[in-house]
Amino acid sequence: MSNYGRIHNFTAGPAVLPLSVVEEVRDALPNLHGSGLGLLEISHRSKTFQAVVDSAVARVRRVLSVPEDYPVLFLQGGASLQFYMTALNFINPGPNGEKGAADFLVTGTWSQKAVKEASRVGDAKAIWDDAPNNFRRVPLNGEYTVREEAQYLHYTSNNTIYGTMYHHHPDSQGKPLVADLSSNIAGVPVDMKGHAMIYAGAQKNLGPSGVTLAILSPWAAARIPKGLPAMLDYNVHIKDGSLYNTPNAFGIFVLERVFAWMEANGGLAGAIERNNAKAGALYAELDRSAFWTPHAAKEARSCMNVTWRLPSEALEDQFVKEAKAVGLDGLKGHRSAGGIRASLYNALPIESVAALVDFMKEFERKNG
Ligand SMILES: *Cc1c(COP(=O)(O)O)cnc(C)c1O
Repeated sequence: MSNYGRIHNFTAGPAVLPLSVVEEVRDALPNLHGSGLGLLEISHRSKTFQAVVDSAVARVRRVLSVPEDYPVLFLQGGASLQFYMTALNFINPGPNGEKGAADFLVTGTWSQKAVKEASRVGDAKAIWDDAPNNFRRVPLNGEYTVREEAQYLHYTSNNTIYGTMYHHHPDSQGKPLVADLSSNIAGVPVDMKGHAMIYAGAQKNLGPSGVTLAILSPWAAARIPKGLPAMLDYNVHIKDGSLYNTPNAFGIFVLERVFAWMEANGGLAGAIERNNAKAGALYAELDRSAFWTPHAAKEARSCMNVTWRLPSEALEDQFVKEAKAVGLDGLKGHRSAGGIRASLYNALPIESVAALVDFMKEFERKNG
């Protein structure tokens, strides 16, 4: 089996996909499922494509254990549009038109953006914010108080840029819980019933960019105000089964294939086991030598994005450059965090992590 000259891909997103899925996508381009019409050339209203959407929804439900009465949507605009759309749909004004309130746990750049966008709609407040600590951890239950008037609590399950994540279900103190799961959905356990709504851009664990998975509880669907702009109204998309307008048909197809790949490889439990093995191997190397300085506090370490520093920026540049030269790509940290970041999404094979760890040992031996 050829690997087409592919190298180890540690990029933060759009990220590596399973090679078998990439091949299925290639094969569907000229002729989708024997329809005689190519994947990029078929009507989203055709029976052939409707079957793809139905299968994608069914697979999402099975893999993530989504209750039957929770609508599953495929939207556009990325997770970034959801920052605003969640607020627009779920923050209801008071009886005299007073601004409604929502609370946020701020654990990184994406949470900050979520607060900013929600502020356009209502009284959005960061009730816990790790910015002064440069986002090394996430709050424990009991470290924050959700305001009485808050209509929901929003959090970011995995902080792609800083490499932290929750290892527990955040306590929303009786309020509905809304979550951005973009960078660890389908890679860690998730309690769907414990959320009022979740969303995730697909380009980390689920597929290509340009399609966003959104899952709403019946509570969430029932409180949406009437008269919102159609494209920003979840109920419009629920009513039309994600086909109100032309969807990202390509993206939905790839997402369906990624979930099929997951189901053939042990489902969510299989993914979690592989992710723990990958992250465990990399963190073991980071803990082995003081040459590496991991960014995240131990108890908040992400299994999807691993971040660390070297003794100097010059060594970090050299690390990224030499890694790339031996086929380890995408290791430069995000510009706002610096250092090194290795993203270990579901589709990254464990062999890639083994190759990275070998490279790190050799690099430390030469430069430590
Ligand atoms: C990548 C990412 C986003 C941004 O997603 P877009 O699809 O580019 O809007 C938001 N939140 C988190 C946690 C992410 O990792």
